[in-house]
Amino acid sequence: MAEEFPFEISPMFEGERIRKDGMHVELSGPKSKGYELVRATPMDEVEDGKFTLIGPDLSEMEEGSRHPFAMIYKIAGELVEEDLESIVERRNHDFQNYIQGLMHLNQRYDVWIRVSKDAVAKGLTSFEPIAQAVMMLFKNELPFIEKVEAVYVTDLAEIEKEMDNVKAIYKSRDDRTRDLHDEDVDTFYGCSLCQSFAPSNVCVITPDRISLCGAINWFDGRAAAKVDPEGPQFAIPKGDVIDAESGEFSGVNDIAKSLSSGEYDRIKLHSFFEYPHTSCGCFEVVGFYIPEVDGIGWVDRDYAGTAPNGLPFSTMAGQTGGGKQVVGFLGIGINYFRSPKFIQSDGGWDRVVWMPKHLKDRVLSDIPADIADKVATEEDAPDLDSLRSFLTDKEHPIVERWEAEEEPEAEEEAEEEAATFAAPAMMQAAMPMQGMPMMMPPSSGTGGVKIILKNAKVSIDKVIIQKKE
Ligand code: SF4
Repeated sequence: MAEEFPFEISPMFEGERIRKDGMHVELSGPKSKGYELVRATPMDEVEDGKFTLIGPDLSEMEEGSRHPFAMIYKIAGELVEEDLESIVERRNHDFQNYIQGLMHLNQRYDVWIRVSKDAVAKGLTSFEPIAQAVMMLFKNELPFIEKVEAVYVTDLAEIEKEMDNVKAIYKSRDDRTRDLHDEDVDTFYGCSLCQSFAPSNVCVITPDRISLCGAINWFDGRAAAKVDPEGPQFAIPKGDVIDAESGEFSGVNDIAKSLSSGEYDRIKLHSFFEYPHTSCGCFEVVGFYIPEVDGIGWVDRDYAGTAPNGLPFSTMAGQTGGGKQVVGFLGIGINYFRSPKFIQSDGGWDRVVWMPKHLKDRVLSDIPADIADKVATEEDAPDLDSLRSFLTDKEHPIVERWEAEEEPEAEEEAEEEAATFAAPAMMQAAMPMQGMPMMMPPSSGTGGVKIILKNAKVSIDKVIIQKKE
């Protein structure tokens, strides 16, 4: 595609994974620091095609080493506006992955990049061709960009110096949707970027639900759809409200059906258990149902330990991704914790029982005051026994659910539910440990049950199936 570069450039390299033993260097990522940032800049302040490197270049990095890494792109053009920054920033992920021998994961200050040994052996010894290739793709694929300039940073002190400013920019983008809600608009926005690796993924972005990658909010989607109507971000007419509580809209269901090639025909935007939003794999946080306490835990990419269910983020992320509706798991963007509609059809914050401490601290001001100290962290509850004790001691609202379930009349219902495989009850019986993933459309309640178990380990002592009189 571009002979002047010491690598091939093609969308076909997007799925390329570079494992530790095949990597020349690792840049940013969970064990280092870095970020990616796009800034809309006045035309006369951008020198088109200019590349600046602050810190050591690739040729000065030892094989197998890890380095801090930041990428800043200044873009200019008559149609360029601040609302487009997130959209262009997200395309850095795509375009870097078009480069053979380069793997780009995540976004914002979670970016994680690896350069392969093969790429270096073929002549990639500098960051400049990478930046030049991305700038070329920005201008080719996003015609509203008339000028672009790149600054890459590998100097730790320089990255640390800017980190607070950069986080403030991300925050101000996220804060813009605070006073706007789903009911205030007629149009939501969709994004199909991740269909390249998760073909049935349907990303729906609303004022009350940021994209699960955390990089695109409703304003960003609107700006992108305006300047590039044929691009990967597009308008979704909301249509009729089918159920405001769970966030079900006829327009979203129509688009779910067409984008997923008929695999899904319903999405409930603010539901965890029933027709949940699909999860492609770019999510910042994974929610996981904990049947032993009938509550929901959340774990993010930065958490290196295991959750009370004994699983680390990576395992649960593997179960959640792929563009599926996986009942019992849900990928979200961190800013969705700040939504007033956060999983509201399943109890909202009253259903949340566990989060890593650093994640809880990050969103603490958005957790309702009456529940904040009742949500356990790894310091309070590293396992299921301690979690149950913590929730009991703190009188978490979830305890009332346990008590209600223990009442005799509820027992009969539970048996019926077990027989008809209603979603959360089914998981209590079937997936208390490692029996995942399970993908199961909720029962319609009108007869007929469809259960799909993929790579599942299920152990059940006893199953009682009763005919419903
Ligand atoms: S996670 Fe969704 S919104 Fe983000 S880039 Fe992928 S498809 Fe687009």
